[in-house]
Amino acid sequence: MNFHIMTLFPEMVEQGLTTSILGRAVENNLITIDTVNIRDYTDDLKHRKVDDYTYGGGAGMLMQAQPIYDCWKAIESKIQNKNADGVSHKTRVIYVTPQGSVFQQNMAQEFAKEEDLIFLCGHYEGIDERVLETIVTDYVSIGDYILTGGELPAMVMIDAIARLVPGVLNNDVSAETESFHDNLLEYPQYSRPEVWMERKVPQILLSGDHAKVDQWRLEQSIERTRQRRPDLYEKWLAEHPPKLDKRKPVL
Ligand code: SAM
Repeated sequence: MNFHIMTLFPEMVEQGLTTSILGRAVENNLITIDTVNIRDYTDDLKHRKVDDYTYGGGAGMLMQAQPIYDCWKAIESKIQNKNADGVSHKTRVIYVTPQGSVFQQNMAQEFAKEEDLIFLCGHYEGIDERVLETIVTDYVSIGDYILTGGELPAMVMIDAIARLVPGVLNNDVSAETESFHDNLLEYPQYSRPEVWMERKVPQILLSGDHAKVDQWRLEQSIERTRQRRPDLYEKWLAEHPPKLDKRKPVL
């Protein structure tokens, strides 16, 4: 899977996405991280300016349409040349913005099906609306707060999407037992030693009875979700027969 990131700060994205698990995925050619500097596409060859004042007044500068449009066109034609099968696939362009739908695991799963994704990172007061209307297919936020730029949100999303690409995680099964799968949070987990500061690992996990361990984990997931994320619990409840929920957790 190929991630193309339109940004004014390519080094920030490169540093953040080329270590640890994603770094290995890049080395193994499972994903590519292609950062493209929007500034390289400005028509203002003298000052390399990419922002200007907003019409109508107001504080702050706005990223201009021209460099972003030309940057996108260059990426899009690179993708089309790579996929030279005669079929035109318009690549999804995600503008990371606090004005978008809030990013969720199911969105990560949907985006992970794409071969190429283009991310547009804003800065300053944001971006001229006309270029957004022309190229953007998805408006996505990472939460109801304002950051200085779109690089961190793009990195958050790319991390969540890339780890769903087959082969990126050592153990593909682990994505299926993690939090948000089936609207449940993951169960509590323990590693060695068996006793730490007088606190014991729950006995059932040492029993070797996999069916009982699975049942215990499901019950713990349900209870944890009910306590910590009642909004998710309601969704889970709506999709599952009540008899499971009425069971007493095995402690
Ligand atoms: N004036 C804009 C507004 O009120 O919607 C906010 C601009 S913000 C200072 C600059 C850039 O950071 C945005 O264009 C966007 O790309 C990014 N950004 C800030 N907060 C974000 C969030 N919660 N989710 C995604 N992107 C965000």
